[in-house]
Amino acid sequence: SASTTPASSNAAQQLFERAQKVIPGGVNSPVRAFGSVGGTPRFIASASGAHITDSEGKRYIDYVGSWGPMLLGHAHPEVIEAVQLAAVNGLSFGAPTELEVQMAELICSIVPSIESVRMCSSGTEATMSAIRLARGFTGRDDILKFEGCYHGHSDSLLVKAGSGALTLGVPSSPGIPADFAKHTLTLPFNDEEALRKLFAERGDSIACIIVEPIAGNMNFIEPNAGYLQAMRELCTQHGTLLIFDEVMTGFRVSLGGAQEHYGIKPDLTTLGKVIGGGMPVGAFGGRRDIMQQIAPVGPVYQAGTLSGNPIAMCAGIKTLQLLQKPGFHSELHAKTGRLLSGLKAAADEAGIPLCVAHAGGMFGFFFSSADKVTSFDEVMACNAEHFKQFFHGMLDAGVYLAPSAFEAGFSSAAHSEEDIQQTIDIARKVFLDMAAA
Ligand code: PMP
Repeated sequence: SASTTPASSNAAQQLFERAQKVIPGGVNSPVRAFGSVGGTPRFIASASGAHITDSEGKRYIDYVGSWGPMLLGHAHPEVIEAVQLAAVNGLSFGAPTELEVQMAELICSIVPSIESVRMCSSGTEATMSAIRLARGFTGRDDILKFEGCYHGHSDSLLVKAGSGALTLGVPSSPGIPADFAKHTLTLPFNDEEALRKLFAERGDSIACIIVEPIAGNMNFIEPNAGYLQAMRELCTQHGTLLIFDEVMTGFRVSLGGAQEHYGIKPDLTTLGKVIGGGMPVGAFGGRRDIMQQIAPVGPVYQAGTLSGNPIAMCAGIKTLQLLQKPGFHSELHAKTGRLLSGLKAAADEAGIPLCVAHAGGMFGFFFSSADKVTSFDEVMACNAEHFKQFFHGMLDAGVYLAPSAFEAGFSSAAHSEEDIQQTIDIARKVFLDMAAA
């Protein structure tokens, strides 16, 4: 139909064609290619506050926020200034800096369970290193992850469920030996009974559970009541480490992340995105006795030439300082709630089934008549055609949403009430067009 045919100019198409000649798929990370929604990706030239501007000069209200880092909005003047001031002192030393100490102190003071923390350069590195540490600490090889959760693209974690309820993982990608993937057990998210059954059978051989405490890589799925508590209890009983992957939720769903939001203390936490304020940064931390197993104090090896990069530390430190402002997260949560209830009301008016959820500055919407979406299977059952129509309708009218129905949305402190209202007004028209199509 007309509404699913993406409008993009010749110039944008030419740029995309040029990109495809020298970059696989024209992009440096797959979801940017608009593969699941079709059409030509927008090439971004600049961004400020809640807005991004593409190579044609068209401006959008942005709900991707670089996939999470831009909690203060794009190009926040104080963050940019911190980066500029840092840059003149040199870009990298490969030796310790006071900035890294400040960053670690900040993280330990904000995230309840973190006593000691190691910086790295991406979320993938953070989770990969945390898994190695958990295996080294426990002397066990098997790990448990959940279907629909994403923890970066390292070999042990790029694994999906095999067939059957409790499964050995199968590689999600060629290039991952089945011999690696078999050590990654997978279960459906939010299935407490399956979790208890697995631990009863083989809990003592599992090094760690790694989980997104709110799943943000299959749209936005909150844990059922008691589910994370059950993980905590089972891990403690069986000597298994609990790793919360808070790369997305950290500093975003509340200041202390999902662990503060739900009152659960994981053994290890992985972080990324927000702590770099847009610069490439990741971190993993947690119980001191476990972290002491990392080189150079312990035998588990982990390293990085650019880890703790001074420019990245400055962007991150300034970001963390600014979002410690009292009321920051409650205001963001309330504002994001107004956006979601506005979208829901507009969809209802048009007779389009929509289900919404949010926490802090992270949200999800599902083209589904369910009251609440709680599992990967339910996400898969949502109306994909509706998503595509909505995505392109919004994009054409100047609202940039994640180009996939399996991603969370991100709001920021820079989104004004006008931005929110404008988004809802645009959505109302798009929903009506969809209903009429
Ligand atoms: N963990 C989670 C929960 C993520 O959402 C992501 C990225 N979206 C990662 C890990 C990997 O982070 P990166 O892309 O920085 O490697």
